[in-house]
Amino acid sequence: MAAIHEQTPSSVLAIYAHPDDADVACAGTISRWVKEGSRVHLLILTNGGKGTIDVTSDTQTLSALRAEEVEAACAITGVSWENLGRNDGEIENDAALREELVAKIRAFRPEVVLSHDPTAVFFGEHYFNHHDHRALGWAVLDAVSPMATLPHYFPSAGPPHGVAEILLSGTLEPNCFVDVSSQIDVKVAAVACHRSQFDDDGGQIGDVLRLRAEDDGRRAGLSAAEGFRRLRPNG
Ligand SMILES: [Zn+2]
Repeated sequence: MAAIHEQTPSSVLAIYAHPDDADVACAGTISRWVKEGSRVHLLILTNGGKGTIDVTSDTQTLSALRAEEVEAACAITGVSWENLGRNDGEIENDAALREELVAKIRAFRPEVVLSHDPTAVFFGEHYFNHHDHRALGWAVLDAVSPMATLPHYFPSAGPPHGVAEILLSGTLEPNCFVDVSSQIDVKVAAVACHRSQFDDDGGQIGDVLRLRAEDDGRRAGLSAAEGFRRLRPNG
């Protein structure tokens, strides 16, 4: 049976590309940890302005709407948040992004970092992973270790900090599961706040999220779980 993540971390930095990503990936986990006393902050990289098939919408209006959606979702999960304001599709794992991430990690000093698994590319026949998820996942790994831990990387970005644990979501190889059976309603409510992304009039997104949590739960002997690839680079 796969490992169950039992400990509640003291501080958690969730770093995700788009405004809805963290809620889809880990709203159960982060809302549970907030409830149990963790300090949890969400760092969103892009404004989400291109996240539509509606050619008549403009990116500024959609970006503003998506910020409102994040605000509503975070009011439910209890997570604080900020948006770095990049444009969708323009995340690159370059020195500028790595420095920005190292500065955020050194300032917040999290015990756990959550982000995308960049090695997960193909999900069956109908979906392959978004460019921004892949690029950010690699940048977060690089920023956490070794860069944030070593003083000669970006010396003006604050004193070094070693993150104890990375949990990567959207993974094809989960090795660690968080019990979210107490939080699944919270997760569904948080994801449903992202109305521009999920038309939930029929409640389908709730059904999808519950089924996914049950599937992950089965792998760990839990009724509902979120699965991650766990890495302990400084352990
Ligand atoms: Zn995304």
